[in-house]
Amino acid sequence: MYKTYAEVKAAMEKGQSVKDILQSYLLAIEERKDLNAFTEVFLDTAIKKAEEVDQKIAEGKAGRLAGMVIAIKDNICYKHHKISASSKILDGFESIYSATVVERLLAEDAVIIGRTNCDEFAMGSSNENSAFGAVRNALNEDYVPGGSSGGSATAVAANLCTVALGSDTGGSIRQPASFTGTIGFKPTYGRVSRYGLIAYASSFDQIGPFANSVEDAALVTEIMAGKDEFDSTLSFKEVGSLQPTPLKGKLKIAYIRETLDSDGIDPEIKQRIEQLINCLRADGHELIPVSFPYLDKMVPTYYVLTTAEASSNLSRFDGVHYGYRSQDAVGVDATYIQSRTEGFGSEVKRRIMTGTFVLSHGYYDAYYSKGQKVRRLIQDKTNEILAKSDVILLPTSPSTAFKLNSVKEPIQMYLQDIYTVQANLAGNPAISLPIGLHSNGMPFGLQLIGDHFEEKKLLAISAYLNDFC
Ligand code: GLN
Repeated sequence: MYKTYAEVKAAMEKGQSVKDILQSYLLAIEERKDLNAFTEVFLDTAIKKAEEVDQKIAEGKAGRLAGMVIAIKDNICYKHHKISASSKILDGFESIYSATVVERLLAEDAVIIGRTNCDEFAMGSSNENSAFGAVRNALNEDYVPGGSSGGSATAVAANLCTVALGSDTGGSIRQPASFTGTIGFKPTYGRVSRYGLIAYASSFDQIGPFANSVEDAALVTEIMAGKDEFDSTLSFKEVGSLQPTPLKGKLKIAYIRETLDSDGIDPEIKQRIEQLINCLRADGHELIPVSFPYLDKMVPTYYVLTTAEASSNLSRFDGVHYGYRSQDAVGVDATYIQSRTEGFGSEVKRRIMTGTFVLSHGYYDAYYSKGQKVRRLIQDKTNEILAKSDVILLPTSPSTAFKLNSVKEPIQMYLQDIYTVQANLAGNPAISLPIGLHSNGMPFGLQLIGDHFEEKKLLAISAYLNDFC
């Protein structure tokens, strides 16, 4: 059982081969099949890659991720491997190219062990919206792991891989990290290439890692990040080393009063965060209470804008270009309609319809344009707070993991995202760190939001807080 890359490397120093390490992860996956974390294990290619890396180690030519075993969310392309976004509509589809992140990880000799279950097209907060069935929380199988990257979170929590990739459009890395007691990191929008990521809402989506140590999250991000000719939204800013370094001096940490005063927050989570704030203050850091007047606008703005983008992005799944095609349909229109009717799940349909509505003639200004304006206000306010502080501290999620099938109302589910969508609306990097165990036995996280492209600083503060907590 290897929790971190440091443990993997220690085992390799004692003589374990990459193939041995991979085998132990494969065995663990087999033993925890009940979690439903993987939609497919890439057995042959993973073994082949492990053998290749062992050979390279023998020749002294191995890359920086030799021995690291990585799972990828089932919406990240890996050439000649199946990909489905956990949807029936991509049934049988195989990637014809690899995502930039996959190319870069392989180039540094990571082994890609398989693809992980998720909410269909990354839409959801519980991983119950998957054509492959729900994922279970590794700590208690009656509970959800969070979503949408629930399989990746579970895989890391149960030590089924060293690191897993997720995608975060509105919290899909951070919220499942909080629910599973892992670390989940969403880089700045424009830091990590989206080439080869199945798009949900393109102006929000970012790929990032789940890990059991800040160092592993930093290493994998550092390797994935940086300019890419295939993604024009990427920054040309140098990435450099993201490894956490010791802090110089005391921190200025802003915390948003409204997030702790809101009705929906679990009292134990609130209490733990307030306790942490007091400890940090007692330790000499400056803890600055700030007001964020748009908390109640966050979820509506997010859902107006992301459904609009999704309705456009998902129009390509038409029963002709990719995957599933209805067998009964006759003619072009019927093929489109029936394939989409049969291929998409109900949450995805709800979002496509909402998105089409907010973009429609006569409603565009009332919803979409207004959403864009509120997004700008949220961005400006976030920047204003970060101009006077190093990071913003807030809960990751208002609750711990909940029981399977217990949240039935879509709006109730959407409200799960109240604290996570700010970083996506504003484009900032953000991380969830495990900070406590609730009396119900489930873990929960603390969220930190950093300034744009200040990943190194955010990760250094995270490493400090991870030890401090
Ligand atoms: N829970 C949010 C949603 O359903 C976030 C999803 C995500 O980040 N991919 O849209």
